[in-house]
Amino acid sequence: MNDIIIGSHVSFLKDSELYGSVMESVSYGSNTFMIYTGSNQSAERREINHELTIKGWEAMKEYGIDINNVIVHAPFIVNLANNKDERKYNFYISFMKNEINRCKELGIHKMVFHPGSRTDLEKQVALNNIVFGLNTIMKDVNDFDLLIEFMSGKGTEVGCTIEDIKYIMDNINVDNVGVCLDTCHINDAGYDISDFNDFLDLFDKNIGIDKIKCVHVNDSLNPIGSHKDRHANIGYGTIGFDNIINAVYNERLKGIPFILETPYVNGVAPYKYEIDSIRNKKFIDYKVNL
Ligand code: ZN
Ligand code: FE
Ligand code: FE
Repeated sequence: MNDIIIGSHVSFLKDSELYGSVMESVSYGSNTFMIYTGSNQSAERREINHELTIKGWEAMKEYGIDINNVIVHAPFIVNLANNKDERKYNFYISFMKNEINRCKELGIHKMVFHPGSRTDLEKQVALNNIVFGLNTIMKDVNDFDLLIEFMSGKGTEVGCTIEDIKYIMDNINVDNVGVCLDTCHINDAGYDISDFNDFLDLFDKNIGIDKIKCVHVNDSLNPIGSHKDRHANIGYGTIGFDNIINAVYNERLKGIPFILETPYVNGVAPYKYEIDSIRNKKFIDYKVNL
């Protein structure tokens, strides 16, 4: 058995919450997972059910899932880059604080968020907004990592270059901020995953490889530098199976959770097949059977 930490995005359903998420992950053969604690498109949130949380913790123990590897993803609507609408911007900050508290109720220590879009603001202004947002959100937060996702540069997204991320990391005054890579986003942002070690060298020199706390594993439907952010199933995209394997098994990222966010195939979750093929380092054309 190799010891990679791999899982996928799973549901967090009303009736089963954390327990359901754990059992869905187990059904894919995962040893970690990622959830949204409610809708990924809205800020609506129900109260977390503590009994289902305890049941989830028990199931994690039973199936060998370390909660330190479990990730929450903030909903896409949060945009810390643009503060033109002050009310909205303040709402996003308080929403993020509240979401961190929800993570803590679930016993989860890591949350990924999208740095956001600048729309018609100067990039520098947008980056400073993110710095301000992170300082405000993470002030007095302990025992928790907030992870900036490396983006593809779709539309006016910021945080899609080493320079953007470096600027944010250099200018925040809180410690517990890390980075979440995404193989599709890196590719679409213009970095070649077939030279993944070169990318990691560049990242290490500018930001520090120890800041990488999670990697989203997705193939891409589009070529390098396309700035599209359309995820493909592993081995079915432009990055290709071997380059994905080399990233997942890169010694420098050992011990970090890898999370699939690939699309369903004909309404079926592909994660069991993808995790199998990644564990066996052998591509299986599972789509012929789905
Ligand atoms: Zn994301
Ligand atoms: Fe992602
Ligand atoms: Fe994406």
